[in-house]
Amino acid sequence: MPHAQQALGADCRLLLPGYPDVLHHLAQDGALKPASPAFGPLFGAGRIQLLTGRMPGNGMSVIAIDAPWLYRRHGNPYLAPSGLGWPDNAARFALLGWIGAHIGAGDLIAGWEPDIVHAHDWHAGLTSLYLRRHPATAARTVFTVHNMAFQGRFPLDDGSALDLREGDLTPQGIEFHGELSFIKAGLVMSDWISTVSPTYAREITGIAHGHGLDGVIRSRSDRLSGILNGIDDALWDPSADRALPVRYSLADIEAKAINRRSLLSELGLHPDPQPQQPVLAVVSRLTEQKGLDLLLSSAHALLARGIRLVVLGSGDAAMEQGFTRLALEHRGRASVTIGFDEALSHRIFGGADAIVVPSRFEPCGLTQMYGLRYGTVPIVRRVGGLADTIVDEREGSAVRPANGFVFDDASPKAIIDAIERAQAAFADGTRWRRLIEAGMQVDLSWRHAAAEYLALYQRLNPRH
Ligand code: ADP
Repeated sequence: MPHAQQALGADCRLLLPGYPDVLHHLAQDGALKPASPAFGPLFGAGRIQLLTGRMPGNGMSVIAIDAPWLYRRHGNPYLAPSGLGWPDNAARFALLGWIGAHIGAGDLIAGWEPDIVHAHDWHAGLTSLYLRRHPATAARTVFTVHNMAFQGRFPLDDGSALDLREGDLTPQGIEFHGELSFIKAGLVMSDWISTVSPTYAREITGIAHGHGLDGVIRSRSDRLSGILNGIDDALWDPSADRALPVRYSLADIEAKAINRRSLLSELGLHPDPQPQQPVLAVVSRLTEQKGLDLLLSSAHALLARGIRLVVLGSGDAAMEQGFTRLALEHRGRASVTIGFDEALSHRIFGGADAIVVPSRFEPCGLTQMYGLRYGTVPIVRRVGGLADTIVDEREGSAVRPANGFVFDDASPKAIIDAIERAQAAFADGTRWRRLIEAGMQVDLSWRHAAAEYLALYQRLNPRH
């Protein structure tokens, strides 16, 4: 998004922890330069320095925090190899917030004082709290919630080491059920809260989707809005996607059949039965949030109807085992790849007929949008960003043409009903083609979100 905002004339810079891969990629064109003197110790880090560089590919300006003690670790940025959060996550992300606040106050990058500091998710939640401490700061703060389920909760005792004060550690501050909550800092201390889709902004004001913070959200509902995410439509473009055996666009959508055959053969799935049946795909974290346990319960019935299933994902151990077993029991009809494989995910979107996203909650969701772009019809549950992007076949209008299948209940029966409807539409080539056409014509670029956020920034900006 910041890249799209830059294209609209804003001077955006992206602040990131200096993870090894971040530093490595920024250094590739040799342009990684110091942007501050080295300082420290702070939050356990002995030596900290800000470096500036440009994002390879799009030239976006990036400020990386080089703090080797806290960030120079390979693997998952949030989780230790044990699968639990890194034990020093409170310090690691307090540092991110502290630096964000000081840059916001014009204190760290010489000659640059931003109007708006836009922080994302609990990891950046303390930014607004630290910034509020500095009365002279003109910068306004926006906090975007990407997922309310992840809250950054730590023992209250950690507070003193993070430069948090007694008043902060109260229910009016960022205390939450006897713990510190970084997300709560973002929610209560920021000038504006946004979420990554309009429906999710409404959902988190209620008990079902508020993850215990719905009361906090309701108390700030006059400062809350939802702005739908875009996707990187250069990276996700079937007419230019180098990961695909054959590239295609709406004008030559027939070429998708070649990718489909190639995918079936790559994954060891049977060639088409007669009449042809849809190939359904899942590319996802395998967690309860994603509702894939419901799909797993429905899978035997669906496979018996001639449908083929392609799953790429990783996550919950029981779910990984469940899907792996399914593939063993239904060789040639179900393929399950456990792991994270970006190139394979592109080939799946290029080759499958439909993408299934049965989430229990979904702040925005990206894969249904990739599905639209690749002519891979989305079958989704009516929640969050899925409800905002997918229009059911029976509910299309001239303004919002149908582009997929949407079901309401989080139950195997509801999934099976929706997939049976998709199967019927697939059997009727014209109905299916109409859905593909509508989906491939949706503009999913970041331009809209970038413009909406810029308008929000201007409303908040006292200097405007
Ligand atoms: P969430 O952020 O909740 O996991 P999203 O749909 O917003 O869900 O984003 C998930 C992103 O991760 C998508 O880009 C999806 O393609 C990608 N992804 C998820 N699992 C895998 C995997 N196993 N291999 C490759 N890409 C994956």
